[in-house]
Amino acid sequence: MIHDLIRYQFDNKSALKRETVLLVSLGCSWGKCAFCDYQDDKSSSVLKCDAVNKKVLESVRGKEIGSTVLDITCSASYTELPFTTMNYIRQTCKDKGIETVILEGHYLFRESNKYYTEFFEQYGIKVIYRCGIETFDEHLREDILRKGLPGATPEDISKYFSWINLMYGMEGQTFDQLKKDFEIALAHFDRINLSIYTSIPSGPARDNDQIKAFYNSDFYHDLITSSRVDIFDEWDETNDHTVGHDN
Ligand code: SF4
Repeated sequence: MIHDLIRYQFDNKSALKRETVLLVSLGCSWGKCAFCDYQDDKSSSVLKCDAVNKKVLESVRGKEIGSTVLDITCSASYTELPFTTMNYIRQTCKDKGIETVILEGHYLFRESNKYYTEFFEQYGIKVIYRCGIETFDEHLREDILRKGLPGATPEDISKYFSWINLMYGMEGQTFDQLKKDFEIALAHFDRINLSIYTSIPSGPARDNDQIKAFYNSDFYHDLITSSRVDIFDEWDETNDHTVGHDN
């Protein structure tokens, strides 16, 4: 079902100023992550995906607003967008002066990255690949979160992706583990997105005390001043972390 969501944002607070679109995919074929409810935003109809995606991409303004980076997100991996949508993305980049496109995908599809690099290169567009890791704690990531990349080391992942997503704030996670995750992430990847966990009915609980302690810590203040880190928190009332809320 295609949900009514905010599908375009311009993030000019990040050190990497960029327009972000949330497109509709054909569905996540992994579909097992314990914290994920957004995979419902999908359609099995290429025509329906394309109709929404084309309209969303019309919002991209590129050079007109001084932006040359377009971040593509969807309710699955970028490889699960219809290929027709991928053509619209590339054409939009060309028309709007976008020089860099960000594609986010599951580690399962890592071998596809090189083909998309070539596809965008034909139009002189650079691609940056982002992968959801959530944590380097293997037990938490695989046994509890069911993320689906067992045994993948930071070195393995960094061969394919230069940007990763981490997550913090669910019951069972510790502040020490978050620090360890950042130590590893900053040593192996160019950029890190940190999502503050939003609970879903059948998923792990949100640990509000841990989140509050994090926001009050020196570590948080170091992270928000880093040009390599963006923090997202959908439950952040004042929306300091620039996340689009559902319509
Ligand atoms: S891979 Fe992404 S979209 Fe698929 S279930 Fe996991 S978090 Fe959700």
